[in-house]
Order: sequence, then C-alpha cells, then structure tokens
Amino acid sequence: MKTNIHKVNYDGTPNTNGNWWVWRETCDRCQKLIYDETTQHSDFEEADVDFCAECIRYFMKKHISYKEAEMKYTKKNLNFNSDEKF
Ligand SMILES: [Zn+2]
Repeated sequence: MKTNIHKVNYDGTPNTNGNWWVWRETCDRCQKLIYDETTQHSDFEEADVDFCAECIRYFMKKHISYKEAEMKYTKKNLNFNSDEKF
C-alpha cells in the first residue's frame, strides 16, 4: 500500500510541480516497509496492492498468481490479520 504520495524536486523538497514522486510503500501481506519518502521515483502508478520481494517469492513458491494475491490483499481486506490469509 502506498501512502503520503506527493511530488518533490530533485532534492526532495515538496513541490506540486516537481519532477519526482515519493511515497511510503508497505507490503500488503507482511506490512514490511518497501520504500520510504527518501526514495524518488520518476513515475507514479497506483496499484491496488504492493508486495515486498519476500512475499512475491512466497506466492511464487506456493503457485499463487499475482492476480490471486492481489484479490486477497486489496485494501478492502486489510482488516483481516495477515497471518490468517493463505
Ligand atoms: Zn511482504
């Protein structure tokens, strides 16, 4: 999940017309921090869910497709304890 999405200048100062995007991104399965606001991105694409590399590997090992994982972990389902899923 991405929060605090905003645009910044190259030096990280907030600017609504800045060329860079920053956000805080946490894994929707294990809640681990993936990116914080110090990582600048040239582009921003909203996704329903975000997973860390570890959880993506877990899904692959369990033969769970990204689509299936996405459906299980959409924002609507965040009230569940993540340990009880899968
Ligand atoms: Zn994770």
